[in-house]
Amino acid sequence: SAAAATVEEPIIPQVQIDHNQLLIDGQFVDAASGKTFPTFDPRTGDVIANVAEGDSEDVNRAVSAARKAFDEGPWPRMTAYERSRIMYRFADLLEKHNDTIAALETWDNGKPYEQAAKVEIPMVTRVFRYYAGWADKIHGLTAPADGPYHVQTLHEPIGVAGQIIPWNFPLVIYSWKVGPALASGNTVVLKTAEQTPLSALYVSNLFHEAGLPPGVLNVVTGFGPTAGAALCKHMDVDKLAFTGSSGTGKRVMAFAAESNMKPVTLELGGKSPFIVCKDGDVDAAVEAAHTALFFNQGQCCCAGSRTFVHESIYDEFVEKAKARALKRVVGDPFKSGVEQGPQIDSMQFEKILSYIRSGIESGATLESGGQRSGSKGYYIQPTVFSNVQDDMLIAKDEIFGPVQSILKFKDLDEVIRRANATPYGLAAGVFTQNLEYAHTLSRALRAGTVWINCYDVFDAAIPFGGYKMSGQGRVRGAYSLSNYLQVKAVVTALKNPAW
Ligand code: ADP
Repeated sequence: SAAAATVEEPIIPQVQIDHNQLLIDGQFVDAASGKTFPTFDPRTGDVIANVAEGDSEDVNRAVSAARKAFDEGPWPRMTAYERSRIMYRFADLLEKHNDTIAALETWDNGKPYEQAAKVEIPMVTRVFRYYAGWADKIHGLTAPADGPYHVQTLHEPIGVAGQIIPWNFPLVIYSWKVGPALASGNTVVLKTAEQTPLSALYVSNLFHEAGLPPGVLNVVTGFGPTAGAALCKHMDVDKLAFTGSSGTGKRVMAFAAESNMKPVTLELGGKSPFIVCKDGDVDAAVEAAHTALFFNQGQCCCAGSRTFVHESIYDEFVEKAKARALKRVVGDPFKSGVEQGPQIDSMQFEKILSYIRSGIESGATLESGGQRSGSKGYYIQPTVFSNVQDDMLIAKDEIFGPVQSILKFKDLDEVIRRANATPYGLAAGVFTQNLEYAHTLSRALRAGTVWINCYDVFDAAIPFGGYKMSGQGRVRGAYSLSNYLQVKAVVTALKNPAW
């Protein structure tokens, strides 16, 4: 595993790439076409490994393995307790391999190693334990009908779940998807993001080591328009779950509608407000707003990307937010103490820089950053804009990078209206000690999560998802299980109504 480093040289992680093929029916196999694609180190742009490039033929193979494991295989027929125990054993292996998995995640994604090793991979383990605990607690109800009937509901798995995940939190989102699907007895075909295929292959192998039967979890690495679209359109996939951009989310829904009308859950983009009320402790609010935006290089669907600050503390807040951004430690994510690594790839890097230019051109005040950091890799300086207006592109579009936009407001009704004036509704932050503000805002904000005096709290038990174009359905918590269950009503006539 990669130890925290103290030298200035780039650190080469001490991990091997053991798995770079598709995982189908419990076996690692090449793509049917024999094609591979490179996955890159965002610190340098160098190739880490070549990975099998799955396409529709591979998706067909994976879906038929998942179909067989569902229709004939042991998974839905196993006792829920046995399923639960395999998931617990998997969680134990995740814990044991924590640092290797974290190193793979950092290498492929660029996120700080300490964040991966101390926060994300432990969270993945926690999520699998959470859903392992659910496996044997899923059951139906009886209902009182007006007549001589015994009515019961069976909560049955839907079947084969197709799951498509993004690159910003490769394994965390893997756990949010795979955990509830498997706990409730479904089988899965998962497509990883093309930028970050490595960690999912590594841990899915561990899942089999923990006793997962072949075909229950299949992993197809490859691209969206090929492998991803094939999964969405497949007639034998019973359910889709997608996390990614709102644009791709629309296509996923359309593919589902055009094929077999499989139900879809979506977790999409956002432009989340972080509202600092006039009574707030400014230093604490600055720190919270900073983390809400800059965490994970700003590559969070729920990033607090519109920082609304009350006019009475606006100037002080901007000064301190700028000072905090200037202090942010950017560098090789394998080094201890680094807060911000590189962006994921050149496309995102260029896109973020072009939003920064647009912010400057539209008249926002650039307080800090604004440029690339260093001369290689995809590092961007922590960037803060003040005097941002609602109609500027940087206040409307999801930038998905380390760019904070600070807006000024006067009163509560105004900030509610402006905060809600977006097609998104994923999350919101409120910073205040005033109960009335806190509750008024949390009820008025049209968002799936409202964090009060905190942000990015991602407990396994807390449901997460979007209003409006930020998605539908919920991941995490008990709510996510219903996405993977069919409800069957079983109605039996009674001989004697008195029974
Ligand atoms: P991002 O801009 O963050 O890469 P995407 O929504 O494009 O967001 O990507 C998220 C996931 O969706 C990735 O796994 C990607 O391969 C997949 N994807 C992209 N395009 C499509 C598509 N047309 N059909 C299905 N999946 C897709």
